[in-house]
Amino acid sequence: MTSPVKKIVIVGGGSAGWMTAAALSNALQTNCQITLIESEDIGTVGVGEATIPPIKLFNETLGLDESEFIRRTQGSFKLGIQFVDWAEKGRSYFHPFGSYGRPFDLVHVHHYWQQANARGEARALDEYSMAWAAASRGRFAPPSPDPRNVLSTYDYAYHFDAGLYAAYLREYAQKRGVIHVEGKVSHVALNPETGFVGAVHLSNGQVFDGDLFIDCSGFRALLIGEALKVGYEDWTHWLPCDRALAVPCDNAPSSRVALGQNFTPYTRATARAGGWQWRIPLQHRTGNGYVYSSAHITDDDAADTLMNNLDGAALAEPRLLRFKTGRRKTFWEKNVVAIGLSSGFMEPLESTSLHLIQAGIAKLLAFFPDGGFDPLVTAEYNRIAVNECERIRDFLILHYHLNRRDEALWRDCAAMQIPDSLHTKIEHFRRFGRLIQRDAELFGPTSWLAVHVGQLNIPQNPDPLIHHRRVDGGDWLGKLSAAMSAAAVRLPSHRDYVDTRVRVAPVAV
Ligand code: FAD
Repeated sequence: MTSPVKKIVIVGGGSAGWMTAAALSNALQTNCQITLIESEDIGTVGVGEATIPPIKLFNETLGLDESEFIRRTQGSFKLGIQFVDWAEKGRSYFHPFGSYGRPFDLVHVHHYWQQANARGEARALDEYSMAWAAASRGRFAPPSPDPRNVLSTYDYAYHFDAGLYAAYLREYAQKRGVIHVEGKVSHVALNPETGFVGAVHLSNGQVFDGDLFIDCSGFRALLIGEALKVGYEDWTHWLPCDRALAVPCDNAPSSRVALGQNFTPYTRATARAGGWQWRIPLQHRTGNGYVYSSAHITDDDAADTLMNNLDGAALAEPRLLRFKTGRRKTFWEKNVVAIGLSSGFMEPLESTSLHLIQAGIAKLLAFFPDGGFDPLVTAEYNRIAVNECERIRDFLILHYHLNRRDEALWRDCAAMQIPDSLHTKIEHFRRFGRLIQRDAELFGPTSWLAVHVGQLNIPQNPDPLIHHRRVDGGDWLGKLSAAMSAAAVRLPSHRDYVDTRVRVAPVAV
């Protein structure tokens, strides 16, 4: 019998480090010492402000109160992502959290939409999404728990200040006994017999040994990459953006933004000549960034584009971040688990990085090791992690590949050789509107539907089964859209919801 893991060392105190420390300190209640080492001199990547709905589960598992979390992180609510100019200039669509209506027949709703669309009788697909009905009007409230109510058909996530979130989780983890060490790791010592990491040495001479090491050191990948020499699978040929410039701006209502449009309950991603620009509204500022391909646009041109397309005055100089899209060849190697940017990065288009941290932590707890580090366990962890990344990768490539823009980057993306797994999905949708899902996928059929249609991959035929049904989908769709509009206007504005129901501190009783 092997001994239990008694000492865990986390290297890195960015979002990945503190999310991991918080979750482990909550889950491992006895007999385990958790130490987190971070270097203020090196700092964190400092971005990562938009999320997807499963983050709610992460916070709930920690027992965080939603209102307090939103107050502490200057957060806001997110109903989805608006994609502007992606398929072609002048065309927008919304990737909603939630569904388009709800199933009312054996045949999926979107086949009825496609049939009505082919007859010229349908509105844009967005008009059948409750998330968009609310988002486009700047409205927000949590969904109804009543499944008969149209307000139950959407979901939500958050935008927040990544630095404040890490600080909040740090306080949480320290209260539960996590030891916080400030210092720079200068050497990683390997056990000469096993090749396992034995200890990390700091430049001030301190040494921290451990049983399990979590590499949250960001792009440096100090343990998994530098010490254990696990390679990196480069996906630049599919996801060519390799740089970002990030800058916050003032979010006071200005002449550049219509009143009520500055605090939107959604992220905006606007395609630009060499990549795309994000816009993330927080309570105290708006986060912006231009993610671009350095092979297609210079840093100076990217900076000009970004600075000329802000809603308000810039609050800082733009900060340059470099990255290589791809994934670590293995995520768990010997006694090191890579979580966060050390494990890979697929660019921020669909806000998946914080989710992959959450997913890494969930898998680590599901496969929590004993001191023997059974290879059967690590192999299964790695198999699931690879699959998760590849399915997300395909979803991201879909946005780039299906475009009709006429700049070099976009032409290259339209012409690129895509993975077979994605090609199959595109062809199934193109022919009969079928949404093929393989294994467990983070992005479900609604998400794929939104992007296929948004990027103008319109099915050539509806599901053949529809010709054997007596349902009048067109009639139903009209009522659905009207019900959504009527429900949306009754919701509070996003600003009012945050000001009156979240920001007001609870009254002590
Ligand atoms: P980092 O933040 O880089 O932290 C690394 C830590 O390791 C730091 O504490 C550092 O001090 C420490 N460290 C490094 N070397 C040493 C050493 N030698 N000794 C001691 N400590 C060391 N994700 C989303 O989910 N949504 C988004 O909207 C989003 N937007 C993004 C936009 C851009 C441009 C980029 C680049 C990323 C974005 N991400 C987003 C990803 C997100 O920012 C990261 O996944 C998240 O911040 C986790 O980063 P990390 O903790 O792994 O790394």
